[in-house]
Amino acid sequence: MNTKNLGFSSKLIHGGEHKDAFGSATVPIYQTSTFAFASAEEGAKCFSGESDGFIYTRIENPTVKALEKLVADLENGYDGIATSSGMAAVNTIYMALLNAGDHIISTDAVYGPSRGLIENQYSRFGVESTYVNTTDVANIEKAIKPNSKVLFIETPANPTMDLTNLKECAKIAKKHNLILVVDNTFCSPYLQKPLDLGADIVFHSMTKFINGHADVVAGMIITKEATLYNKLRAMMIITGCNIDPHQSYLVLRGLKTLSIRVKESQSNAKKVADFLEAHPAVAWIKYPGLKSHPQYELALEQMKGPGSLISFGLKGGFEAAKKFLDNIQLALLAVSLGGVETLIQHPASMTHAKVPKEAKLKAGITDDLIRLSVGIEDVEDIIADLEHALAKV
Ligand SMILES: *Cc1c(COP(=O)(O)O)cnc(C)c1O
Repeated sequence: MNTKNLGFSSKLIHGGEHKDAFGSATVPIYQTSTFAFASAEEGAKCFSGESDGFIYTRIENPTVKALEKLVADLENGYDGIATSSGMAAVNTIYMALLNAGDHIISTDAVYGPSRGLIENQYSRFGVESTYVNTTDVANIEKAIKPNSKVLFIETPANPTMDLTNLKECAKIAKKHNLILVVDNTFCSPYLQKPLDLGADIVFHSMTKFINGHADVVAGMIITKEATLYNKLRAMMIITGCNIDPHQSYLVLRGLKTLSIRVKESQSNAKKVADFLEAHPAVAWIKYPGLKSHPQYELALEQMKGPGSLISFGLKGGFEAAKKFLDNIQLALLAVSLGGVETLIQHPASMTHAKVPKEAKLKAGITDDLIRLSVGIEDVEDIIADLEHALAKV
């Protein structure tokens, strides 16, 4: 059956490509490193590309392929490249697209390691970078240089919850011949489809919403067309950052419930955001589903919903934040996001600890900022937990 025209939730259940001799309801785990060829001629054809038979699991594997086809279909892309982690996806993109002397422009509040990889490692090979506040796309135009090659956007950004207008970025990228790359981890394809808005490449840390159960680390790259796909795929293969078949199976299983997990956690997050906004100990809150978010209109325009990540600060600053976090009981004091469990963390001392203080403040990652990834527990319990901890501050 052709699943291309099915609705999003139906694709989650029936999409992806797999044929199996026994009619298995799920995609089997092809736990093998290598595949036997039927003949010498067939082996040669696999290598020349005349046949699409499998060769070796670092290159391709049927369980992995089913996952790649499914996520590419969800993102309305050409095809997918699964990787061993979200950072492996980031590295594959950088390494395939940037030469010595090239320049990359990126969101200043991007995921900390995505920035650190450029500023601390790729800088060693002569790659230049400029990190700007991309909430105002005029800052992107101002940063463009003759050697600019890549525009790397994360929206909503991590952990400020600032949005970047992807349609505007696509216009700028087209005008200046930049490749537009979007980190869609915070949204999942359920809430946002960057390729439809003009991006060339979208990628995910599947560790977060796509798998959704806090038991896998993995990544995925999807391109709009074949040329970039082949370039990125070759880089993934030669650097050996492939996902393994068992992890792929777990992600395929997690994906089946993506719609209901995102809907439920988003519904909880809206209630949690309303509670926090009204609480006297809370100094500020950033959630794209609140009218108080400076880009509330843009969220309505480019996202199907505001998601389940919330940032907020307490009136007592960092000291109050520490006390608050130490009194949380239900939510896990842990990094990561997008799982079924509520997670809470302090970016300035945790995920973004390695970003220099000045750059952190410039990017809006203040010492009082607390990031909350709302899960699918009963919302009354999540709010009671926050209420109890806030009372201790
Ligand atoms: C977690 C994350 C990454 C990195 O993914 P890993 O799977 O941890 O390697 C990249 N971008 C964002 C927005 C993330 O949240």
